[in-house]
Amino acid sequence: MNDSKITIPEIRLNGIPASPGIAIGTALVIGNRISTVDRRDILPSEIDSEFSLLDDAIELTKKQITALQEKVNAELNDQDAKIFDAHILLLDDYTLISSVKEEIKRELISADYAFFCKIQSYIKIINKINDPYIKERSADIMDVASRIVLNIYGKEFEEIKNLPGQRIIISSELSPSDTVTMDRENVQAFATETGSRTSHATIIARSMKIPAVVGVKPNLSQIHTGDIIIVDGYKGVVIINPSIDSLNFYAQKEIIGGKLLVELMEESDLKSETLDSHKVQISANIELLEDIKEAEANKAAGIGLYRTEYLYISRNSLPSEQIQFETYKQAAQSLHGKHLIIRTLDLGGDKMKPNLNSYSEKNPFLGFRAIRYCLAYPELFKTQLRAILRASVYGDVKVMFPMISCLEEVTKALQYLNEVKAELTRKEIPFNNNIDVGIMIETPSAALMADKLAEKVKFFSLGTNDLVQYTMVVDRNSEKVAYLYQPSHPSVLTLIKMVVEAARRKGIWVGICGEMASDPQYTILLLGLGINELSMSPGSINIIRKIIRNAKMHEAERIVQCALNSSTADEALSYSLEYLKTIVPDIYNIVIKGS
Ligand code: PEP
Ligand code: MG
Repeated sequence: MNDSKITIPEIRLNGIPASPGIAIGTALVIGNRISTVDRRDILPSEIDSEFSLLDDAIELTKKQITALQEKVNAELNDQDAKIFDAHILLLDDYTLISSVKEEIKRELISADYAFFCKIQSYIKIINKINDPYIKERSADIMDVASRIVLNIYGKEFEEIKNLPGQRIIISSELSPSDTVTMDRENVQAFATETGSRTSHATIIARSMKIPAVVGVKPNLSQIHTGDIIIVDGYKGVVIINPSIDSLNFYAQKEIIGGKLLVELMEESDLKSETLDSHKVQISANIELLEDIKEAEANKAAGIGLYRTEYLYISRNSLPSEQIQFETYKQAAQSLHGKHLIIRTLDLGGDKMKPNLNSYSEKNPFLGFRAIRYCLAYPELFKTQLRAILRASVYGDVKVMFPMISCLEEVTKALQYLNEVKAELTRKEIPFNNNIDVGIMIETPSAALMADKLAEKVKFFSLGTNDLVQYTMVVDRNSEKVAYLYQPSHPSVLTLIKMVVEAARRKGIWVGICGEMASDPQYTILLLGLGINELSMSPGSINIIRKIIRNAKMHEAERIVQCALNSSTADEALSYSLEYLKTIVPDIYNIVIKGS
């Protein structure tokens, strides 16, 4: 008999780091709540009792969701509690309920089946929309639907509570109500196949400080209840059957990481300034109004990028000027004088909205997107500009145009802005006539023409997510060519340097709002290149601030020279990593090493 030990190899899955922290523990796999409902035919005499079953289930569900909302309000905050407004709206949707009743009557089918079929058809429509934000709303709808069907059956909704001990929750998706009802003492972490940084369940996980990885690829079906797994919410990694080495490594990382996050939060009031007194502004990128709360908690200097397209893609019709005005005004007011850079609509590429740009293209990233789209639809563009200008009296509002490839686009956009200003003046509507206007530098042509462009605007913001994609000619979403997506490539660094120098010559400031700004690996390079503002997802602010506070500008400048003279992206990066290892070993070990 062969007595050699059988070792199960560890499996690593990658996803989106949604909520920082490490968890090592036992998996609990949660199935979908209600995935199918069998058809049940009824007699005409049963119609009324099916109607009552449906009405009672809706009432009970409303009560349950209101109770949940109160719990969140009391234990977390009112912004998170507002997430449930959408659930309650669905329960109050008269058209939905009466169409379900019509089906019950016409088809002579049971209430649970009629309701479930109706919801399925809603979800099918939503899932056809090629937009992650909208898709996430289907999780909310499914959550309510499951509750109603279970209430029709008189069964309890299986909540993630009363767990037998500490568990890591694994699910294809989690709803916001799953996250808030979670047995917080015993949920160590969660990992899901769906979701993104802006999904509601993720927002709540961050508020609760539960480590989480979402959008795990290819899928989580390899995990079974009882498996030992590791969730790394810093890097977005899930490890099944971890080896002894991984267990040791992550156990260390868990302890040090936990301590580090607390320490970093305690330091959030400290200046973002290098040891040799060079100041860098650290701001936040936001997609939704509620993200401002997280930006404030991490002491962001302001908002360096407000991606307004989420206002458009989260609804079925265009947001009116008034809706936009109210939203921008609220954002400006809640920042109490800190700057708010509102980027005009950047639709297209991977951010598609079928009823807005139904025109389909072979290469959407090279096509009809962002400023190109806005300039083709002046009314839509001017409506947004009007709303931004009207909100500009409520704070330090700045406006920024995305995806500029040539000077004519800036000239045209400014012409529209001036037309709107003239119109507001005529109508005696207040606005800030001196509003700062900036552009994103995210195409190589704009970087190469930065000197000329700088004459037209007050600031530049480097959109490196796109700049890297267009410089390296690599689709930013493609897994196959991801190895070529190299932010530290000397060609990219050279373009950034040209932009900074052009901005300096013309006396305007330059920021960066691409993901490169939130990745600690590149902080020293960006610092050395002389960027004035780093704008990033709020969760990264404290880490980047710590790196800046421990760095010396003259060292960063020396490192950048070496990086610019490098032949490869890896070589360029190695200079920065070497330095990081010496100045912030804790961050290096937790966030970078072992990735
Ligand atoms: C970028 O391209 O770096 C950027 C910030 O814009 P987006 O990611 O929205 O395209
Ligand atoms: Mg971009």
